[in-house]
Amino acid sequence: MGVEWLLVCHGLVTALVIVSFLCGRWPIFEGTFIQRIHHFLTFGAYDYFLRFVGAVFGSKCTDAVLSLEYYCCDRPNPLLQIIYTVIIGVTYYFIVKSCFAYIPGYYLSGIHRYTSFLAVAVGILLFLLTSFSDPGTVSTENVSQYLSAYPYDNIIYAEKECTTCKIPKPARSKHCSICNRCVARFDHHCGWMNNCIGEKNTRYFMAFLLWHFLMCLYGTIAIGLVLAGRLKELKVIDILTVYYGIENSFMDLAPNVVQWLLGSYNTQILLMVFLAIVAMLLAGFFGYHAKLCLSNTTTNEVSMWITDLQVARLYGLAKKVKRSKGQC
Ligand SMILES: [Zn+2]
Ligand SMILES: [Zn+2]
Repeated sequence: MGVEWLLVCHGLVTALVIVSFLCGRWPIFEGTFIQRIHHFLTFGAYDYFLRFVGAVFGSKCTDAVLSLEYYCCDRPNPLLQIIYTVIIGVTYYFIVKSCFAYIPGYYLSGIHRYTSFLAVAVGILLFLLTSFSDPGTVSTENVSQYLSAYPYDNIIYAEKECTTCKIPKPARSKHCSICNRCVARFDHHCGWMNNCIGEKNTRYFMAFLLWHFLMCLYGTIAIGLVLAGRLKELKVIDILTVYYGIENSFMDLAPNVVQWLLGSYNTQILLMVFLAIVAMLLAGFFGYHAKLCLSNTTTNEVSMWITDLQVARLYGLAKKVKRSKGQC
């Protein structure tokens, strides 16, 4: 029993860390402990680590860590692309190793051995397509086309030149400091793709998110059906009913069934929990981007507006302070 609870706690803590790290800045978590964990994971822990390195190994080591950080976060690099490949490869390997022995099973036909492979292959294809496609690089040759496609509104976007590329900056474009190029209808620089997401590859990016969400959902349901099939095939409910002498009602037997599953199929359960968490995160991320696409907005513009809003709020606050001082 102790091991099972340890496993459950491990799963919950992992889920909390993943959710805090990826979604801690979402407005719904503002002021909650999830936001604080996110802050610790993204700033606090790193700051303590730098101080620790400086105190123990000296400033040369701190510089080395900082230059490594510069390479990993501020320069194009395939680090996250490799991590994505490892995650998808290792997860699929464990699914094959732990579940394929039970496919075909009571609820799943043999075709799922092939459809699961096809799902992963399409996922990787969409990943490659988003990673290596042109996001809409603005160059001297195509800048006039982009200027006419995205005219200035003189409210948010006024006529401007990119100081680095030395070419006019079409409205809604942005210079990506990591890739060192101007990108039309810039959304964001995606570390996982090692590429900008812009005018030309947003559709692949959206397809990537939707496909991976569906894939994780498919995995969660399929593993669930494998386990349900094992329960049925091994007549676990019947055995437990006789063993515990409880009425054959699923609700009464549920704790015993869960305990039996955690003891006998913990790899499959961990995979299922992992896929379910990733599916939820992807659903949130896809939903957010779909909302932006439907309102013809980009992540970059939202962050610009948030900054404007903050400036406006501060301005309002300053006026209030002035007024109250005047009253005094
Ligand atoms: Zn530029
Ligand atoms: Zn970029």
